Amino acid sequence: MADVTDTTIDARALDEVVTYTSELIRIDTTNRGGGDCRERPAAEYVAERLVGAGLDPVLLERAPGRTNVVARYEGWDPGADALLVHGHLDVVPAEPDDWTVHPFSGEVRDGVVWGRGAVDMKNMDAMILSVVRAWARHGIRPRRDIVIAYTADEEASAEDGSAFLAEEHASLFEGCTEGISESGAYTFHAGPGLALYPVGAGERGTAWMKLTAQGRAGHGSKVNRENAVTRLAAAVARIGEHRWPVRLTPTVKAALLEMATLHGISLTAAELEATGFDVDELLVKLGPAAKLVEATVRNSANPTLLEAGYKVNVIPGNAMALVDGRILPGTDDEFLATMDALTGPDVEWEFDHNEIALQAPVDSPTFAKLRAALEAFDPDAHVVPFCMSGGTDAKQFARLGITGYGFSPLKLPPGFDYQALFHGVDERVPVDALHFGVRVLDHYLQTA
Ligand SMILES: [Zn+2]
Repeated sequence: MADVTDTTIDARALDEVVTYTSELIRIDTTNRGGGDCRERPAAEYVAERLVGAGLDPVLLERAPGRTNVVARYEGWDPGADALLVHGHLDVVPAEPDDWTVHPFSGEVRDGVVWGRGAVDMKNMDAMILSVVRAWARHGIRPRRDIVIAYTADEEASAEDGSAFLAEEHASLFEGCTEGISESGAYTFHAGPGLALYPVGAGERGTAWMKLTAQGRAGHGSKVNRENAVTRLAAAVARIGEHRWPVRLTPTVKAALLEMATLHGISLTAAELEATGFDVDELLVKLGPAAKLVEATVRNSANPTLLEAGYKVNVIPGNAMALVDGRILPGTDDEFLATMDALTGPDVEWEFDHNEIALQAPVDSPTFAKLRAALEAFDPDAHVVPFCMSGGTDAKQFARLGITGYGFSPLKLPPGFDYQALFHGVDERVPVDALHFGVRVLDHYLQTA
């Protein structure tokens, strides 16, 4: 176990993280969107175990059954900033017929815990519980206050979850400067003997847009130069075919430089930033590792829904489309101007849902400590920063001045495709991976 003397994470902590992951999976917290979810039983489950660790959790709801839980584990240094550790309690839907085991069975089979939420993110929810309960047993206090938040509604709008907490209960997060949560610090096998651990240090912004074309309604047999369907279709095609320019953010640059070095590719920061640098060529050379950055070297806008008309021989007066846009940190103005140009004069567009992009520093003491915690338990780990292509609760907590990192440590064996399991069929997590995770999390939180 490298140079770490691991006394806190005892046999009981290792048992608990597996039991809690499994039992949380069994509590069905499917979030179908539109308010159709009930996190309360899972919230009560975690709250009870926090009480068992001597904490005083509060349960908070904006809507009945949509329960959030917040608790604070006091550190020994009153001068230190607090650290937020958060996990969401809801999961995306799962269709039992598609699965090898029932998605809400939480079955532990051949050293693997199966079920919806096994990696997103009841694993991390369980790891947090296991760590603080081990601390309570051993009388351990971390340096910083650790604020623990279990949220509702992450898999939909976050309105009943982290957004509500940030808006209505900011005082519970007083002193928090950084936060850690999902989607990072798992093993990404980039080739034989090359174990990457991407740690989240940024997120693209969310720009869900509604396009509307107005035209002149009329008979389908007549001449009509103001056809709303034609106008909308032209705009949608322009958006779908648009090749967004490369925009390298600090996190993506750091990721590309580190991954180039690991692949034996000579690349300097100056070369990377030079005009005419071909990032796509570099991505090809990076092979499987390119997956970690390819969605975040550019903005994107994908048309996803069309709605117009009601009869073949009637030209409708208007037509509507939805587009899923994702915006890199620092590129908002360019994105808006590009959308104006692509939609053109005949099509209006507006945000249906708009969330900010995040950029966390990768040269920070926090990132160095996250890196060190992973390296302590996997000497072969190559930690690389990455920017998430989508969004998490960290966006909401950013409103409180909390810098978010994606850090839910898991050591996964080769062939275990974390990204495919995320929201996927047969979501599962090895027991060993949970054991690794709980050790790394304990180590990080104690050294943070
Ligand atoms: Zn998640």
